[in-house]
Amino acid sequence: MAVYAAPGAPGSIVEYRSRYDNFIGGEYVPPVKGDYFVDVTPVTGQPFTEVARSTAEDVDRAVAAAEKAAPAWGRTSPAERALVLNRIADRVEANLERLAVAETWENGKPVREALAADLPLVVDHFRYFAGAIRAQEGRTSQIDDDTVAYHFHEPLGVVGQIIPWNFPLLMAAWKLAPALAAGNAVVLKPAEQTPASIHLLVELVADLLPAGVLNVVNGFGVEAGKPLAQHSGIRKVAFTGETTTGRLIMQYASENLIPVTLELGGKSPNIFFSDVAAERDAFYDKALEGFSLFALNSGEVCTCPSRALVQADIYDDFLADAVERTRRIRTGNPLDTETMIGAQASNDQLEKILSYIDIGRKEGAKVLLGGERLEHEGELAGGYYVAPTIFEGHNGMRIFQEEIFGPVVSVTRFADYAEAVAIANDTLYGLGAGVWSRNGTTAYRAGRDIQAGRVWVNHYHSYPAHAAFGGYKQSGIGRETHHMMLQHYQQTKNLLVSY
Ligand code: NAD
Repeated sequence: MAVYAAPGAPGSIVEYRSRYDNFIGGEYVPPVKGDYFVDVTPVTGQPFTEVARSTAEDVDRAVAAAEKAAPAWGRTSPAERALVLNRIADRVEANLERLAVAETWENGKPVREALAADLPLVVDHFRYFAGAIRAQEGRTSQIDDDTVAYHFHEPLGVVGQIIPWNFPLLMAAWKLAPALAAGNAVVLKPAEQTPASIHLLVELVADLLPAGVLNVVNGFGVEAGKPLAQHSGIRKVAFTGETTTGRLIMQYASENLIPVTLELGGKSPNIFFSDVAAERDAFYDKALEGFSLFALNSGEVCTCPSRALVQADIYDDFLADAVERTRRIRTGNPLDTETMIGAQASNDQLEKILSYIDIGRKEGAKVLLGGERLEHEGELAGGYYVAPTIFEGHNGMRIFQEEIFGPVVSVTRFADYAEAVAIANDTLYGLGAGVWSRNGTTAYRAGRDIQAGRVWVNHYHSYPAHAAFGGYKQSGIGRETHHMMLQHYQQTKNLLVSY
């Protein structure tokens, strides 16, 4: 067990600058209008640094720097780019603990998760795409005796990337690794809630990339994100965030007729068939743990298993065990490696979650656990903490249909297979789902029948770089991770040669 010192306190392994500018053309550049905004840690509710509040003029500068750098970077060989990506991975790995503490301080997530999952996955995504770009091959087709069609993968040029605050470094890695591997220059806009983590990453790796290949513009959605998504100099926009924002991004992108990748919201079902409880064994324990994963990352996960569907004949016993299991989850100081649920990322998010808990009560759902703000003593008193909350109700309720993005699960029962699939698919979203059954046929059928891009069978919440991730329905367009992502950052050149 360890408790990391808070940044700013004696013994901390993280030091912040008092102010972060934009990173453009290989340099730190103040915002054109000279405005900054305060970055607050959700752990204590206190400000710890300030960050450039950018506008369209700053975006123009960043895109211009990227346009200058893109042609030369795009002509480097896959082997050269792979070397750079591997070096980025090595630097992150060598600084893993420091980045994990920083991400915890800025986002409120438990440091144990940042150490065990977020940062190792960042490292692996850069290594994976370093390998993938070297393995990618073009195609040649013989058209007739004299004519050959060569197909080359070429980069798009400059791409705009806009990311959320729930996994600041991992969301950056998901986007940067394939885009850079494919030979593009990037303008990245971090979320306004978590910009400093991205700057610590940039400080670590800036010297590995030619100036202008990676540019970071900080600021708010409409002020900085919109001008980026609308910019005529970018050739693609990749966005992760809310479904409502995703619709706007698509409109902006349509002005320049550029492609989008949209990774949006979810309301993922987690289905427990009755054979799960055939024995009280390791499989049963694993299923209970799978239920409680709605609280992973304080519930701020797009694939949060926020709807639990339990078959009627095991419903009462399974739910009683699941409530007890969830009650034992340790909450508290996110910098303590024993803590499993930390703070919500911002005061806005805290208020949104509490308002949904209120909505759930008003629409008649029963609170089986939690249902309140968690008050902590001492330094944590000003932080944003919510007790893991279990509601019982039905799928027509708002708490079953709308994304809460907090440690809140809504539970209901189903009679048979057909009803389970019907409830699972009765949602606007289609991002993730979980299926738990000892029967391979049931699990397979449900996995295929559920309208979601990622279905976990007998486990939940793993995000390997080599498995495709993305949404059906209003959860998004396109895929991230997996080598197929490279092609989303490339265009195909056909050279038709007559010999
Ligand atoms: P958000 O849509 O509010 O913001 C995301 C990013 O978009 C931020 O950088 C923000 O500044 C920017 N933005 C906001 N309005 C904009 C606009 N009009 N134009 C351009 N940019 C704009 O989302 P959030 O609250 O930061 O993130 C939480 C959401 O992200 C949840 O809905 C969650 O499900 C989703 N998410 C999805 C995935 C996935 O892979 N599908 C992963 C993580 C999070």
